[in-house]
Order: sequence, then C-alpha cells, then structure tokens
Amino acid sequence: MAANDLIRLEHITQSFGKQERKFIAIQDVNLTLNEGEFVVLLGPSGSGKSTLLRIITGLQRPSEGQVIYHGKPLLGVNPSAAIVFQSFALFPWLTVQENVEVALKARGVARQERIQRTTALLDKVGLDGFETAYPRELSGGMRQKVGFARAMAVEPELLCLDEPFSALDVLSAESLRNELLELWQSGDIPTKLILMVTHNIEEAVLMADRIIIMDKHPGRIVADFPVALPHPRDRKAPQFLELVDNAYSILAGQTQPEHLEMGSAPGEPGLTRALPHVEVSAISGMLERLELESADIYRLREELELDSDHLLRLTEACELLGFATVRQGDITITPLGQTFAEASILARKEILASRIRRLPLFRWLLALINAAKDKYLDWDVVITALELEFPSDEAERQLSTAINWARYAELFAYDDDEAVIYLPEDSPTPAVS
Ligand code: ADP
Ligand code: MG
Repeated sequence: MAANDLIRLEHITQSFGKQERKFIAIQDVNLTLNEGEFVVLLGPSGSGKSTLLRIITGLQRPSEGQVIYHGKPLLGVNPSAAIVFQSFALFPWLTVQENVEVALKARGVARQERIQRTTALLDKVGLDGFETAYPRELSGGMRQKVGFARAMAVEPELLCLDEPFSALDVLSAESLRNELLELWQSGDIPTKLILMVTHNIEEAVLMADRIIIMDKHPGRIVADFPVALPHPRDRKAPQFLELVDNAYSILAGQTQPEHLEMGSAPGEPGLTRALPHVEVSAISGMLERLELESADIYRLREELELDSDHLLRLTEACELLGFATVRQGDITITPLGQTFAEASILARKEILASRIRRLPLFRWLLALINAAKDKYLDWDVVITALELEFPSDEAERQLSTAINWARYAELFAYDDDEAVIYLPEDSPTPAVS
C-alpha cells in the first residue's frame, strides 16, 4: 500500500433487485485513489458513476466488497466527504450566507467561526456582495457557486462532484471550472482528493490529473490513465487534443490501426477515405434509435424505411465516427455514440468536432483554410484539389458532406452565395498542420 493512498475500493459490486430480476450496476471495481489527485470519472449514463460516488462517500453500502479509507474499512457515512450534485438544492427561504452556514451549524461550529468561514468562502468563489441575496435572485451559475461554497465550508478531505457543471450555461460553467481549479491548486483548502463525474470529455482533460473511464452492462472500469499536462491547460495544444482523442477512442472502442480507420489526406500517400454521404441529422436519428437497443441491419432497413444504400452509408458513418460497431449483421451503439445521443445540441457539436478533426480530409481542409489569404477558401479551389483523388462528381459530393458535418460541428462555415469556406468568428478550431 502506497503511503499516500486515501481510498481503496476492494471488489466493489453493487446489484439491485433479486433473483431473475437482479441487475448488476457495478461489477468488481478495484481502485486506489491517492491524496493530491483530481480524478475524473467518465462514462455513459447507467455505467454506475453516481452509484460509485455514493458508495465511496458511504451513503450507500455495496452489495459486495469494501471501501478502505485511510487504511480502515469505511462504516457508514464518511464524515470527511462532501458531494456536490448537478443542481444544488438550496433552501429558498435562506440567504446565500445562511445557506452556507447551515452546513457548519449541522456540524456544531460556533456562530462567530461560522460567519468568518462562510464570508471567506463566499469571497473565494466570487460571491462577495451577495451574502444577503436569496437563491431566486441568483443565476444558475451563482446558485451552483453557493452549492460549492456549502460543500467546501465543511472543509471536506474528499470532495465528490457529480456532473457539477452540466446544468450551467457555457460561460458560467467555464468560470466555475476555473474557480474550482484555482481553489484546488492554491492549497488554501484542506481537500486532499477531488473525484468528479462528468459526461464532458474535454472538461475531463481540462481538469483531471487522472481519468477513469467506465462502461456499462455491467458497470465497470475499462480504462485508467494519467493526464500529465501542466495548468493552465490550453484546449488547442496538440497534447491536449491527443488526450481528448485518446479518451474518445476508448469510449468508441476503436481498435483498428489509425491509417486503416481514417485514411490519408488528399495529396498524401495512401488511400483517402471517402466520407459516406449522410447528413448529421440522419446520424443523430440512427443513434437515438440504437440507444434503445442493438439491431439487425436488415430489420432496421424495414423499420426505418431506408433504402439499402442510405442505410449502408449511415452505418459506415456511425462506424467511422466511433458511434457504433457492426458485427455479423448487427449494429450496436458504442459508449461514445450513446454519449452523443444523450447530449445537448451544444455537447453534440463538441463531440462531432472532436471526431471529425481527426479525419484526414478535415485536417487537410483546416490546414488549407489556415494557409489561405484572409482565411477564405473558394469552393472551386478545393474541388480542383479533390479531383486529384476522386472523380469530379464524387469530389463535389465529398465536399458537400464535409461542409454539412463541419457546419454542424462549427468547425468551419460555408457561405452559399459566395461559395467560400471560412472559419467562424471566435473559432475554437486550432490550426492543425
Ligand atoms: P450513472 O451515474 O453512470 O448514469 P448510476 O450509478 O446512476 O449510473 O446507475 C447505474 C445503474 O444502476 C443504472 O442502470 C440505474 O438504473 C441502476 N440503479 C441505480 N440506483 C438504483 C436503485 N436504487 N435501484 C435500482 N437500480 C438502480
Ligand atoms: Mg449519474
């Protein structure tokens, strides 16, 4: 046992129900979490992430196995732990200050110290000036900050966060992420370990020292790897994108060598893989169907009333993007595909952008745009280059499909009137070479 391990999970299994209705939510999870780590749990809905948090904090007793905390078996609720949920339940009749103080009062902290600690914390999370406000007067982001302050007030050694940013708008989420990271890194808080659940892969790579990926049926750990990038992290840095891709690939269960899966860019040696001509909306529809259950491809053809060509292109697109796998005529959604199907439109855009950025055709297009004067690229120029790889009508279809996907993912934009491709304003797109 390492000197700095805080938590050990030994053969944790959690089942619900009895006999033939028995359902295994978590199967034989073994894990050591160390002091000083910011650990992120990633995985599709139903993979047992929330259940694992409840077990780790002692809110729930596992069916089998045990939690070892500081070298001793955990019995009952862990008093050194706090959990922050997706949307924090604040007491509407209490002020911001009182909502935080409640947690301290419950632990018997004296009034004077309660006030002092609460004031200092509200200041730390950027809520000074709002002490006397009521929850209804606050934005979602600010309410979540009060939730954080309340969790931090008890100075938890172990801080667990269950999708804490997923209900927030983009800007509030980003600012709250930064504030949490700053607090954590400042060393001003006594917290020794943060364990955060998220659906958001980029968020995981942005914040974690270590990422643990879970899959379901049954819920289990399928990957566990470090993120050794210094803070503050640059979302556009190649190492960052590589880790994001890595996490995506694990979720997508892709095993083929990259060059077979992806092909090459136009002009590069090797075969340029043609994009299957389907619209993103059709891909979404397919995934929403597959989320319910895997299907026999031919049965699916009848059910969705698609012609076989279209269905084959759809299947190929889902496979190419890592959203589904096909085996012996059955098509099955991957954890990544499921994450996409469950995601908000905004998160879907991010997922698709991450996926298509890896495809050589898109890498090549982005490099062309970035190299172009004024960052504008004429349709005709691209077609001319593509015609070296594809027959001319196919070249046009390739570009139309690429534009459909890229527009959805907001990777680049297209002006129909001028027939030019360009980068949208504030494009998060890195200049990939
Ligand atoms: P996640 O947080 O990864 O989405 P959960 O931990 O919430 O997953 O749930 C894992 C699985 O266990 C799900 O299939 C869920 O329906 C099931 N589950 C969780 N809690 C209970 C419970 N109290 N009774 C029955 N099934 C449960
Ligand atoms: Mg959950």
